[in-house]
Amino acid sequence: MQQFLDRPLARRRSVGVAVGDVIVGGDAPVVVQSMTNTDTADIDATVAQVAALHRAGSEIVRITVDRDEAAAAVPRIRDRLARLGCHVPLVGDFHYIGHKLLADHPDCAEALAKYRINPGNVGFKEKKDRQFGAIVETAIRYDKPVRIGVNWGSLDQELLTRLMDQNQAQGSPMTAIEVMREAIVQSALISATMAEEIGLPRDKIILSAKVSQVQDLIAVYVELAKRSDHALHLGLTEAGMGTKGVVASSAAMGILLQQGIGDTIRISLTPEPGGDRTREVQVAQELLQTMGFRQFVPIVAACPGCGRTTSTVFQELAATIQDDLRRNMPVWREKYPGVEELKVAVMGCIVNGPGESKHADIGISLPGTGETPSAPVFIDGQKAATLRGPQIADDFQKMVAEYIEQRFGA
Ligand code: SF4
Repeated sequence: MQQFLDRPLARRRSVGVAVGDVIVGGDAPVVVQSMTNTDTADIDATVAQVAALHRAGSEIVRITVDRDEAAAAVPRIRDRLARLGCHVPLVGDFHYIGHKLLADHPDCAEALAKYRINPGNVGFKEKKDRQFGAIVETAIRYDKPVRIGVNWGSLDQELLTRLMDQNQAQGSPMTAIEVMREAIVQSALISATMAEEIGLPRDKIILSAKVSQVQDLIAVYVELAKRSDHALHLGLTEAGMGTKGVVASSAAMGILLQQGIGDTIRISLTPEPGGDRTREVQVAQELLQTMGFRQFVPIVAACPGCGRTTSTVFQELAATIQDDLRRNMPVWREKYPGVEELKVAVMGCIVNGPGESKHADIGISLPGTGETPSAPVFIDGQKAATLRGPQIADDFQKMVAEYIEQRFGA
């Protein structure tokens, strides 16, 4: 009979890895991380974006280290962030010449909290193992963890060809897509074994195997989870823009998280031109919060609206309250411990408004079209006030702020 998962399965046991002072895996909650899209050599821009991502809730931030200028900038970026009070662990993303950059820039090797290597992009043939080994040895020397991050788009072609030949020789028991999935899993596992043989301990290794299709991602991670106890970084690569990226990432990662798979997540959204990079952090937080794994910001329950809400007051108030709460959270988390547990309801009319508002800590039921222009407010399940007039939205915002002060203030 089909098994329905009405609650998450027990979290898969993984070996915890310290990335700076953030633990990934083990008993730690699922960590949110993100990546900058600035030129790392542009110190001002990179510092600003790392700080913004961290303020938005990114607990680890990855930066591109692709050339000498970028590597030289890394320790300066770390120091500038520290002066701003931002101590988020920085991960260096290396491809092709990571071994050389780390050797030539010891300050960069020391400043980073983790190195990310893609086994498909460390060199060719005999150079590949040597260059991979050089990065691992640097990690051992500086006591840093490594993420072995395999990517569908840069899969080790020698390994793929070998597996395809083997499959063909056995009469093709696997489809071409199954062989590719197996190649990506094996690439991660073989590289992890190599790193351990060189001397990198298991508690310094995180694995990822990113692909761009939801079903492939699920299949690959289910297999990785079965065949190793390494901490796993989840991410759907090239997830895409707008709602497509959000939906695809949430579908894939939601299913894996429900099965107890995944120790850290990154939602890779293609930003709209001039768009806000912190959106990927918001989506990651909302995914974990919606599924009940972590609580980051107060929940605002809002009805979808219908023909009874022809004015825009209801939508504007729901959006304003949500934005205010999110914007204030970095400060409120310190000032009002536990505020992330708050539940606010903004409802469009009396049909479901009073009922939903009573279930929230503080809720308002706005007047729908044709109703008496008054809005009952419920606090802790009891009707506390009735707001009237054009100031309803402002008055409710003030009531929310007062409620937070009274309940969560020292
Ligand atoms: Fe429509 Fe009222 Fe239900 Fe909101 S609460 S969806 S306004 S009927």
